Amino acid sequence: MVLLIAVREAIRYDPSMPTVEHKPLRRLAQAIVLGTGSAPAEALAVANHLVDANLAGHDSHGVGMLPTYVAEVAQGRLCPNTPSELLRDDGAFLAFDGQRGYGQRAAGEATLAAIDRAQAQGVCVMTLRNAGHIGRVGAYGELAAAAGLFAMYFVNVTDHPPSVAPHGAREARYNTNPLCVAVPDGQGGTAVLLDMATSRYALGKVRIAKNKAATLPPGMLLDADGKPDTDPAVMYAEPRGALLPFGEHKGSGLALVCELLAGVLSGNGTLQPDNPQRGGLINNLFSVLVEPRHLVDDDWMGEEVTHLLDYVRSAHARAGMQVQIAGEPEAVQRAQRLRSGIPVDDTTWREITTAAAEVGVDSERMTRLLSGPGE
Ligand code: NAD
Repeated sequence: MVLLIAVREAIRYDPSMPTVEHKPLRRLAQAIVLGTGSAPAEALAVANHLVDANLAGHDSHGVGMLPTYVAEVAQGRLCPNTPSELLRDDGAFLAFDGQRGYGQRAAGEATLAAIDRAQAQGVCVMTLRNAGHIGRVGAYGELAAAAGLFAMYFVNVTDHPPSVAPHGAREARYNTNPLCVAVPDGQGGTAVLLDMATSRYALGKVRIAKNKAATLPPGMLLDADGKPDTDPAVMYAEPRGALLPFGEHKGSGLALVCELLAGVLSGNGTLQPDNPQRGGLINNLFSVLVEPRHLVDDDWMGEEVTHLLDYVRSAHARAGMQVQIAGEPEAVQRAQRLRSGIPVDDTTWREITTAAAEVGVDSERMTRLLSGPGE
C-alpha cells in the first residue's frame, strides 16, 4: 500500500492510465538489473534498452520484461556479467556466443563489433547464439543505420516450447521470430526501420493485454483446441493456445526462414524438440551489415531513398488510415512519450514491484528512485 502511494505520487496520470517519466523509470530499471547481479554498465545498457523500447511504444519489450529477467536469473537461466565469447573472427564473418548473458549487452556489443568490421571490409555477417532475450531488435538496426550501414537481422527464440502456429496448423511450431531491416538516412539516422515479430501479435503484447484484462482483435489467436479466440489468457493456460503468423503463409514462411537463418547459422539450433530446452528465453541471431559505398554512389543513394519515401508518402490514404513509413509510428510514440510519460498498467507495476523487492529494491528505495534525481 505504501509503495502504491509512493508510485502514484511519482507518476503523472493521463485519463486512462498512469504514466511515468522515462528518467525515473531508467533509474528504477537499472537498480533492478543491478539487483540481479549486473555491474553498473551492464545494468545501464539493459535499463536503457528497455525504457527506449517503452518510448518507442513497444511496451511488450520494455520494463514489463524485468520480472521475467529477475525470475530467469534466480533460476540460473540468465547469467549477469557474462560477456559474449568470440567464436569466429574470419574476414567478413564474426560469430559470438552470448553464453546466456543479458541479451541487450550481447547484441549491442556484437553489433558494435559488426559495425567496425563492415566499415573496414564493406560487409559483415555476424551471428550471435545463446544470448538472453535481446529485446527490441530495432535498437540494433538503429545502431547500424546511425553508422551509415544497411542492416538485416533475423532472430529465433529457443529454450522453451513454441507459441506460433504455422499457417494452416492448429498448434504451435514456431516462436515469434522477429526480423529487422534498417536503412540509413545518410545523416547519422535511420530512414526506414522495419522491425517486427513474424506473429500477428508479439507475445509480449499478449502479456500486456492480459495485464490490462483486454481482449485481442479477432484473427490473432487460437485456443488449445485450435479454434479462433480473443482471450490472451489462452497463451498462459495449460495446454496453451497459439498465436497466428502475420500474412498467413507468407509470414509463416518468414518465421521458418528466421528459425533456419538464426538457429542454424548461429550454430545454436532451432526449437525442434530434440534440442535441449531449459524453459528459459534464448535468442539467436543472424545479421548482415552492408556499407553501401562499396556498391553505389553515396549522393545518388541518399537522393534515391528520399525520392522513394516521398513517393510512398504521396499515396492518398484510405478512409480512417494513414500512409506511414516503417519506423515512423515508433518516432511518433517516442516524441509523445518523451513529453507525456510512459503508460504502465497496474498489473505490470505490481509485477515490477514484486520483482524489485526480490532483488533488494524495497519500497523506500523505489520511492527515492522514482521521485528525485536521487542515486
Ligand atoms: P509492430 O507490429 O508494432 O510494427 C512492426 C513494423 O511495422 C515496425 O517497423 C513499424 O514501424 C511498422 N508499422 C507499424 N504500423 C505501421 C503503419 N501503420 N504503417 C507503416 N508501418 C507501420 O511490431 P511487432 O511485430 O509487434 O514487434 C514489436 C517488437 O517486438 C519489435 O521491436 C520486435 O523486435 C520485438 N520482438 C522481439 C522478439 C525477441 O525475441 N527478442 C520477439 C518478437 C518481437
